[in-house]
Amino acid sequence: MKLCRFDDDKLGLVRGEEVLDVTAALDAIPAVRWPLPQGDPLIAHLDAVRARIEAVAVGAEARPLAEIALKSPVANPSKIIGAPVNYQKHLDEAQADREINVGKEIKTIDYYGLFLKANSSLVGPSEGVTPRFPDRRNDHECELAAIIGRAGTRIPREQAFAHIAAYAIGLDMTVRGSEDRSFRKSCDSYSVLGPWLVTADEIEDPDALDFTFWVNGEVRQQSNTRHLIFDVGGLIEYASSFYTLLPGDVIMTGTPEGVGPVAPGDVMVAEMEGIGRMEIPVRAA
Ligand code: MN
Repeated sequence: MKLCRFDDDKLGLVRGEEVLDVTAALDAIPAVRWPLPQGDPLIAHLDAVRARIEAVAVGAEARPLAEIALKSPVANPSKIIGAPVNYQKHLDEAQADREINVGKEIKTIDYYGLFLKANSSLVGPSEGVTPRFPDRRNDHECELAAIIGRAGTRIPREQAFAHIAAYAIGLDMTVRGSEDRSFRKSCDSYSVLGPWLVTADEIEDPDALDFTFWVNGEVRQQSNTRHLIFDVGGLIEYASSFYTLLPGDVIMTGTPEGVGPVAPGDVMVAEMEGIGRMEIPVRAA
């Protein structure tokens, strides 16, 4: 099932080039009051919402995909987790390019561990990316994103897939510079998730997905998730060895080679096998 959040926080069921408005299915999410439970309520109750979608999809209004504004399919993650240098060829380019490494030695993911991006950086493709410091280098990083469905801590990799609700395409936008990674990657709009979530039952093997990323029609990144150094199961084991994963947590799994700068006016396009394609404008502040 492909589910999107669109326009004014409507819930959409993606069917080819159309979206069925299944917002009524959100009634399956229990009402909450302060203090809110941790985690994203839609993802935490996804099974109940899916069951309801089957019922409300019959006779639901259909809208052309081209006419709707796509928001992040996860609205309230408790955390957005990033994986630094998780493709060998990106490690190689980061070590070779002084504009990326800013004179620092680039080590490996098992040296750095993972990092967190501010939840306030999260947007959907329609909102676009707004470079916070247009005079500095602002890079795209196109990545597979795994969305946690079931809470867990100290999850062994053999059980990792039981904790995944869905997948999406993630953009881990980055200001290059000397500051800590989590700071440079947490500007408003520097985490893009979309175009929708694809429930895990539709992705047979997340560690074998082709993906391509274009800027203004030019291919910048092209790889397959089989080249991940820490694969999806390994990342869940690694992340949950330090903290509890909650429903709606987003794991951006790392980017391959080909990262590069974008500027206002550019149009980014990301496409991933089994998920779909999204267009993300780079906006002026
Ligand atoms: Mn990244």
